[in-house]
Amino acid sequence: VTYVSERQSIIDPWASIKIDDYEQLFREFGIESFAPYVKAFPDAHLLMRRGVVVGHRDFQLIYNCIKSKKPFVAITGRATSGPMHFGHKMVFDLIVWYQRHGADVFIPLSEAESYAVRGVPWEECRRIGLEEIVPSLIALGLEPTARIYFQTDMLPLLKLAYTFSRKITLNEAQSIYGFSGSDNMAKIFFPFIQVADILLTQLQRFGGPRPTIVPVSIDQDPHIRITRDVAERFVNEYSFVKPSSTYHKFLSGLKVDPETGKPGKMSASDPESSVFLTDPPDVAAGKLLNAFTGGQPTVKEQKEKGGNPDICSVFEWLKYHLIEDDKKLSEIYNACKSGNLVCGDCKAHASELIYAFMRDHHYKREQARKIVHKYMMHS
Ligand code: SF4
Repeated sequence: VTYVSERQSIIDPWASIKIDDYEQLFREFGIESFAPYVKAFPDAHLLMRRGVVVGHRDFQLIYNCIKSKKPFVAITGRATSGPMHFGHKMVFDLIVWYQRHGADVFIPLSEAESYAVRGVPWEECRRIGLEEIVPSLIALGLEPTARIYFQTDMLPLLKLAYTFSRKITLNEAQSIYGFSGSDNMAKIFFPFIQVADILLTQLQRFGGPRPTIVPVSIDQDPHIRITRDVAERFVNEYSFVKPSSTYHKFLSGLKVDPETGKPGKMSASDPESSVFLTDPPDVAAGKLLNAFTGGQPTVKEQKEKGGNPDICSVFEWLKYHLIEDDKKLSEIYNACKSGNLVCGDCKAHASELIYAFMRDHHYKREQARKIVHKYMMHS
């Protein structure tokens, strides 16, 4: 298992990690399988029904709210350190799904972390937030009932972070995050801002205590654990409901990892490893044409032996983002395995699909620029 690099039993939310064995990880951290909920919704999101959302904590609370149409919150943050790629898109696809199922949506833009931990200048954080991230979120389908804010605009958030920090010791934070001596103090304080982001939504002025879902990739679990812990410690003062979470698998990058020979990780600092929501459509299409596949070295061999969609990054992009119809996806899977589909045709199809998606997304982003203000919340 490569999720722990140097420190056993610690997931580092700031590191670029790769998980080989989700089950082992879930056992170690007490995360439950999402499988029982896959068939619970007739219109389950494709990431749910295709096994990409794999784990959860306390999802039953959210399930009950959706079924009985009771209020609940869906929240996820976004760093303002750069444009969003398709790995980030997965979280917001889920958030939009929850909003359509009755969730009260909050999106904190964590420009304080982007500045203090990643060194992005304050003005640039604002520009990225308002000109790149929010228009993309609107283009992905977020409705204006969502409340988006910059963390430093929210005085109640900062007060809450200070309140929580009183009851967590450095040793406790250390046991969750495994800080190193060279980490700066902003990185050590930042988790309290994250905790406050999630629990702020349960203050009376933001709707009061109610179940809260935080869809995250597994590397963000330390933030979930500390938030649930804080919610419990402050339950007498605030009547918090411990937040629930779901965990989804990472979307592989488009390039091969020379060490494993399999698709590598997406990295915001390597433009060829992923498609960004700000990429021009032809650039996005070109990236998929050059992506790593699970095909055989020659067309002849592909036709004889079939390809391997289970390790193919093109297939993963079709599965996670580009094909809504399950039947169509399974036809591609079977055609690949039986050798009836060759990679050239398959990649051409995927690149046409992403071209069409991006063209539509860019059009919607341009329209969205005019209404960004409708989504922004200030304290
Ligand atoms: Fe991947 Fe498609 Fe090639 Fe199969 S045919 S290995 S799914 S690119």
